[in-house]
Amino acid sequence: MPPGDAKPLRIGVFGGTFDPPHVGHLVTAVNVRHALDLDLMLLMVNNVPWQKVGSRPITPARDRLAMVAAAVADVDGLEAGDHEIEAGGHSFTADTLATLGAEYPGAELFTVVGDDAAAGIRTWERADEVISRSRMVVVDRPGEHAELDADVDWVRVEVPRLEVSSTDLRARWNDGRPLDYLVTDEVLAVVAERGLYASEGVA
Ligand code: ATP
Ligand code: MG
Repeated sequence: MPPGDAKPLRIGVFGGTFDPPHVGHLVTAVNVRHALDLDLMLLMVNNVPWQKVGSRPITPARDRLAMVAAAVADVDGLEAGDHEIEAGGHSFTADTLATLGAEYPGAELFTVVGDDAAAGIRTWERADEVISRSRMVVVDRPGEHAELDADVDWVRVEVPRLEVSSTDLRARWNDGRPLDYLVTDEVLAVVAERGLYASEGVA
């Protein structure tokens, strides 16, 4: 097909700390990709999650990237995004969308967030730029029923509701409860290889 006739690529950007990535993230990514017919869904690993800094020790970005890459390795259309880690410094979605716009000229971008993150959209750096550069997609997150900004043209996608969080998983690690089926075996292998979460009580 001549380039002029090619359909624009549809790319989802699902940002997070992914400390660690879990079944809630993966089920969301796969189902949003399917529902919106996205060519690519990037799980964009935050370098410095500025809204979380200071509240707890955050696993180094490269280790979080390795966990996400392991989690999506065999999944069609899902990829770990290293753009924010490569850029260094604080991670702002507005900058990431600009970078992706340059990397994939003409692509349609979709910013994907759970209810909790959607509710905080106005606290994001240059929120207007995020909203103008991408379609805003929100998914239900059990336990979070926030009011969404009515000025944003949200696309809501139904995904299976899984009440799982990374915070929850770190607590499980701490007291030795099983993580099976909440994270993939590949993620557990990276955790073991790299000795992650050791300071949180994991051998
Ligand atoms: P933490 O507890 O450390 O904040 P988290 O589980 O909330 O971790 P994040 O990396 O903060 O994961 O979230 C990245 C994105 O994934 C956010 O948009 C968040 O709303 C969404 N998300 C996380 N868990 C779920 C879930 N179980 N269902 C739907 N969306 C989720
Ligand atoms: Mg969170």
